[in-house]
Amino acid sequence: MTPAAGSSQPTPEKPIPTQPTPHAADTPRSRHPTVGKGAGWGTLPAMDDAATPRVLIVGGGYAGVMAARAAHRHGADPVVLDADGAHELRCRYAAVAAGRDDIADATAPLADLVDVEVRTARVVAVEADHDRVVDAAGARHPYDALVLTTGASAAAPPVPGLAEHGHDVHDAAGATALRAALSEAAGLVVAGGGPTGVQVAGEAAAAQPGLAVTLVEPLERLLPGMPPALARRAGALLAARGIDVRLGRALAAVEPRAARLDDGTRVPGILAWAGGFAAQPSVLPGAPRRDGRLVVDAALRVPGRPRVLAAGDVAAVVDARGGTRAMSAQVAVAAGAAAGVNAARIARGLAPRPAALRELGRVVDLGGGRGVAQVGPLALAAPPLDRLAPLLHEAIDLRHLWRSGGLGALRRHRRGATVGRSAARQAANGEPRPASYPG
Ligand SMILES: Cc1cc2nc3c(=O)[nH]c(=O)nc-3n(C[C@H](O)[C@H](O)[C@H](O)COP(=O)(O)OP(=O)(O)OC[C@H]3O[C@@H](n4cnc5c(N)ncnc54)[C@H](O)[C@@H]3O)c2cc1C
Repeated sequence: MTPAAGSSQPTPEKPIPTQPTPHAADTPRSRHPTVGKGAGWGTLPAMDDAATPRVLIVGGGYAGVMAARAAHRHGADPVVLDADGAHELRCRYAAVAAGRDDIADATAPLADLVDVEVRTARVVAVEADHDRVVDAAGARHPYDALVLTTGASAAAPPVPGLAEHGHDVHDAAGATALRAALSEAAGLVVAGGGPTGVQVAGEAAAAQPGLAVTLVEPLERLLPGMPPALARRAGALLAARGIDVRLGRALAAVEPRAARLDDGTRVPGILAWAGGFAAQPSVLPGAPRRDGRLVVDAALRVPGRPRVLAAGDVAAVVDARGGTRAMSAQVAVAAGAAAGVNAARIARGLAPRPAALRELGRVVDLGGGRGVAQVGPLALAAPPLDRLAPLLHEAIDLRHLWRSGGLGALRRHRRGATVGRSAARQAANGEPRPASYPG
């Protein structure tokens, strides 16, 4: 059985050498570019390169940037390998799809955000026996400890027509494609009444009042996993915007401009799929999984691979009741930080510590300046408290940027957003985009 987070001190499964392993790989071991003058990470003395253990982090999302920061603070040399070199604030994608937020506000080049080495590389395999990973170009990257934070993608159930005609909001391409499709659609059908689905429906109805929005959820309630009072309030807010909420109904088929439900009804509109996410653990085949996510012990290590840790959506972190933590940015941030500390400890020959993850609550921004939130014992749902959730949502994002890279990251992100917006304007005018900004 997987030990619960917060249980007793784990014992390393095999002796961990007190010195970092030598790096005999094809990728050169480069210096941390800005040790000693980080943007908000505190000033650490520059370390002797030969003595600085290498922590590799695969994935530069919420968990990855926090792992990098923590590993750096705990005496390691972190290197982030990310498939596209961008940090995505996925929590903003519902607002991007609805047309409220600019895509430039939801993505930032990782190199502008974190003060560690970033390599744009898609990792295809972990060679745990050799303490290295292999990327899609065949290059090998050695590590003293590895943190996998490869996240999740939209699940693809075998619903006829979904792959061909459905949209999702899991990545920048999906959110911008839905945004473009919505600009000429008369209706939107959102499949899935969890946090992502209610956000997409709420944001779309708030941003485009003429749009006919239908939200379909197979269970008899919205927001499963959140307190029923919040779910009722979210339902009332959506209904007040004219959203047709259909509980106890599942998606049966998708057509180019309509969805068919399991009761045979045909609902006009383009389809946004928010019915589930699938973790992306494929770089570590054969590792034990729970609900498709990598099983981790109390110190966030993958069983049988004492130098490999996992955090964020890809990891099945067990909670105090034996269930698994939600796929959420909040869990990813906390687990990423804990994994970064433990990776640095393992790389330095120290035993890792159990990860104590604090969850303060849940926030669902429904657009239009309203939402629902649970903060500790407090439910922020009844008016006028429902106005606090969007403010909290924004504050959490800004805090994340601050913790990822300090004031410099906040400033660079805002500058990046400005560059991105002017780039979008330039693109609309047929002018070339700046080479440094993604998308
Ligand atoms: C529309 C939407 C709204 C959401 N709203 C909220 C919210 O309000 N609150 C909340 O708490 N959560 C929210 N979430 C969930 C939250 O975004 C995720 O839980 C969070 O992104 C998980 O972080 P992560 O670091 O594990 O993974 P991700 O953020 O998905 O990052 C994974 C990174 O790994 C990279 N990667 C993947 N595979 C490889 C590979 N093989 N090699 C190299 N790099 C790789 C990817 O490019 C990506 O950069 C929302 C999600 C969506 C889609």
